[in-house]
Amino acid sequence: MTPERSMRITGTTRCYPILGHPIAQVRTVPAINAYFAAQEIDAVMVPMEIPPGGIEALLALMRSWSNCGGASVTVPHKQAAFRACDRLTDRARLVGAVNIIRREPDGSLVGDMTDGLAFVEAMGRNGIAVSGRTLLVAGAAGGAGSAIAQALCGAGAARLCLVDPSRERLGLLAGRLAADFPGCRIDEGWPDDARVDVAVNASPVGMRRDDPLPIDLDRLSPGAAVCDVITKPVMTPLLVEAARRGHPIQDGNEMADVQLPFQMRHLGLWADEALAPEGDPT
Ligand code: NAD
Repeated sequence: MTPERSMRITGTTRCYPILGHPIAQVRTVPAINAYFAAQEIDAVMVPMEIPPGGIEALLALMRSWSNCGGASVTVPHKQAAFRACDRLTDRARLVGAVNIIRREPDGSLVGDMTDGLAFVEAMGRNGIAVSGRTLLVAGAAGGAGSAIAQALCGAGAARLCLVDPSRERLGLLAGRLAADFPGCRIDEGWPDDARVDVAVNASPVGMRRDDPLPIDLDRLSPGAAVCDVITKPVMTPLLVEAARRGHPIQDGNEMADVQLPFQMRHLGLWADEALAPEGDPT
């Protein structure tokens, strides 16, 4: 980066906190600040470690924080941030969580959830097809899983099999997806009559060394793709075993690395467009 393009914080700089607990592990801060510098956007992203009990007060403060343009939101605040928003995209409403908030000039907060978009974008970059195929999402009732399930339906999946021990939340999600995407067959659980073409782990199972595999690899089609959203470790036991068996794989960093354009678009800071936020949230 040239000196002219390095980040310079002055009194005119707009602030974008990233809210999490813990926060030290986040990978997006350098990438977003490098994007601001490269695009000559007078803005800075700063990590803010906010314990769960403090998030409502911080989000309330954002309404009167005039040089704040919005916030990125990570674990465990995505649901509390959803509740604090004044307006939401349909994506965020289905999932019940937000990972990016735009602050409007009047102080109102507009939330979006980009996990599903980023996941499908990473699949495209890896050449993993969605259209017309049977896909399975483990952890589908969670924040990332619901967003991914919705995005896979939107990308033309023929059949989506949803797996999660939380049966009640899973049933609600299945009902909403079936209503929104009548062209996609929605099943709860593994299919008895078909092989799975793409299996996705969107649960946290695999973060701990002694976790079981969240997906039964014996039930996949030969050559089925296996994807994980976990970023620590990047090579989860599921991906290690899938790769050993010769399955194409996609790791959590590949999804995390493509979140930036979607989040910048929601903030109205994506350089490749007319700086207009996508959609018309209500
Ligand atoms: P969450 O708690 O909202 O959801 C997790 C879901 O997994 C829950 O519904 C839970 O019931 C389910 N689950 C638990 N055990 C299961 C099992 N054995 N089989 C199937 N489902 C099971 O969590 P979240 O916010 O959705 O995060 C999940 C994971 O996704 C975390 O590891 C997080 O770090 C990761 N994540 C990655 C990215 C990325 O960009 N790579 C983005 C968001 C989240």
